[in-house]
Amino acid sequence: MKNFKKLIIITGPSGVGKGTVVKEILEKDQDIWLSISATTRNPRKGEKDGENYYFMSNERFKNMIEKKEFLEWAQFAGNYYGTPLSTVNEKIEKGFIVLLEIEVEGAKQIKEKFPEALSIFLLPPSKEELEKRIRNRGTEKEEAINRRLSRANYEIASSDKFDFVLTNHHVDETVKSVFKLIKS
Ligand code: 5GP
Repeated sequence: MKNFKKLIIITGPSGVGKGTVVKEILEKDQDIWLSISATTRNPRKGEKDGENYYFMSNERFKNMIEKKEFLEWAQFAGNYYGTPLSTVNEKIEKGFIVLLEIEVEGAKQIKEKFPEALSIFLLPPSKEELEKRIRNRGTEKEEAINRRLSRANYEIASSDKFDFVLTNHHVDETVKSVFKLIKS
């Protein structure tokens, strides 16, 4: 991989609003490309293979780990998630800014390997607000919600490992701040 300055990591706990922020950023700038991750979790209603994620079996995921086909990977709430290396390389070589929307363990791995990548941690305004956002999303069952919330405490405690920490009060303001960081 060549220019790691072109690698932007958006991380933070599940439910903080990473996906919404990223979606708005992509709409504003065609030179930014969002990496599509691989995962072993089941698709949610409306999610499409190759669009939201590459959905795959545990066996296939582990095979990709063995073949070193991930830039990073992590286990999260009982499933595997990983960033396929080949497409990220390809897009960086083509001159795109590559955006990764990933959880904290994977983000730490990238920060250690490529310190010149830009990492942004999104914090919720409060833990109560985070819980409200996860519940309002309506995509997870109670057990999965609880797993995500208990993991959030640990994730928030890691926020100081990243280059910038932004509190996601309002999407519009957060998008503006992220943009400034990307362009600076
Ligand atoms: P969800 O199941 O809600 O789509 O994602 C759960 C968590 O996994 C989110 O925090 C999301 O950002 C993260 N995630 C998605 N793709 C990847 C990836 O490729 N690697 C890592 N480490 N985390 C990911």
